[in-house]
Amino acid sequence: MNSFTFWNPVRLHFGKNSIEQLEKEALPYHKVLIVYGGGSIKNNGVYDDVTKALAGKEIFELSGVEPNPRVSTARKGIEICKKEDIDLVLAVGGGSVIDCAKLIAAGAKIEEDAWDLVKKKVIATEALPLGTVLTLAATASEMNSGSVITNLETKEKLGWGSPATFPTFSILDPSYTFTVPVDQTVNGVVDTMTHIFEQYFNNAENTPITDEMSEGILRTIIEVAPKALKEPANYEYRETLMLAGTMGLNGFLSIGSRGDWATHNIEHAVSAYYDIPHAAGLAILFPNWMRHNLSVNPARFARLAEKVFGVERQGRSDEEVGTEGIQRLSEFWQSIGAPSRLADYNITEAEFDGIIEHTMFNGPFGNFNKLDREDVRAILEASL
Ligand code: NAP
Ligand code: FE
Repeated sequence: MNSFTFWNPVRLHFGKNSIEQLEKEALPYHKVLIVYGGGSIKNNGVYDDVTKALAGKEIFELSGVEPNPRVSTARKGIEICKKEDIDLVLAVGGGSVIDCAKLIAAGAKIEEDAWDLVKKKVIATEALPLGTVLTLAATASEMNSGSVITNLETKEKLGWGSPATFPTFSILDPSYTFTVPVDQTVNGVVDTMTHIFEQYFNNAENTPITDEMSEGILRTIIEVAPKALKEPANYEYRETLMLAGTMGLNGFLSIGSRGDWATHNIEHAVSAYYDIPHAAGLAILFPNWMRHNLSVNPARFARLAEKVFGVERQGRSDEEVGTEGIQRLSEFWQSIGAPSRLADYNITEAEFDGIIEHTMFNGPFGNFNKLDREDVRAILEASL
């Protein structure tokens, strides 16, 4: 393992009726900005639960946060916070809403433009207190400090964050995810699994604890996801997927190691150009990242194949076993309805040059294996 310091200050309230904790959490605050998306929370009753718990507070709202949230939307929220002296930003929704709320909470504390935070020209040293009520299991944004924001004008989608952008508290009631449609449930499963893979492919020595944790969560998701898709209002299935999503990227799985994260970087570049769902891009790109990098450490791929996908060795080499594992992953994702080709979104090589440049904003990238322009092009071409 690498040496590490672990710190995660998020107070997580998990379980049925955990919204009851909101009243207590909100006690110190008076003016609340509720941030939400396109209105799903109004249709499924979550909005009513939230406003009931906030009775007596002065409430402001910012709705319409887009999937792949825009900096322009965060700017609107920042303006409200500054004008109205908001003292709690409350995100109610999925990762997009939470990511946008993080930028609002930090942007409210600076004079400069919000995009300067995302571009890391200004580092967020403080933020307004941020709470979240999660309605979609996927990103773990509810328990990490990361945020991914899109700027349509500059065609950029970038991740940023700082210790100041951890939520103060997050409320996770699995029954709030009963209404997540099939495609978004699949997206959540793919995003969660890819977060785990990104961390699993690291170069640290001796990481049996995080390896076993990762493999166990992956096996559990593979078992439960198809059941949750058949029975979307089954509490136990939704509960399992929700905790998997949070555990997938709350920092626990990269204790003592540094994950790869190349595929997320390539996906952000693709979504910046084509505005496709984050997880759809991952489902298409990640198996091709795996094929491209199999030779870097075949034993790692073989271990994943055996421990997660139950591939039998049958006297074969690590490469062969690893290849079968990648195939099984592709088949699993396709079996639950995830896309497998860029062509599914009518994406051609037309914008590859721009996409590749976007991935290179910090030079070659990836911690398991460094990718240069030609590597990225090869992965994109294999994904067509
Ligand atoms: P999302 O973009 O937040 O939501 C996707 C869709 O699901 C929206 O249309 C939303 O509708 C709907 N939805 C959410 N909850 C629902 C519910 N309970 N019932 C019915 N519909 C519901 O999806 P996400 O996958 O959570 O977030 C994706 C974003 O997070 C991407 O931008 C990605 O890059 C980013 N991301 C962040 C991190 C991180 O660590 N911060 C990690 C990975 C990815 P409404 O608009 O009506 O709410
Ligand atoms: Fe992700």
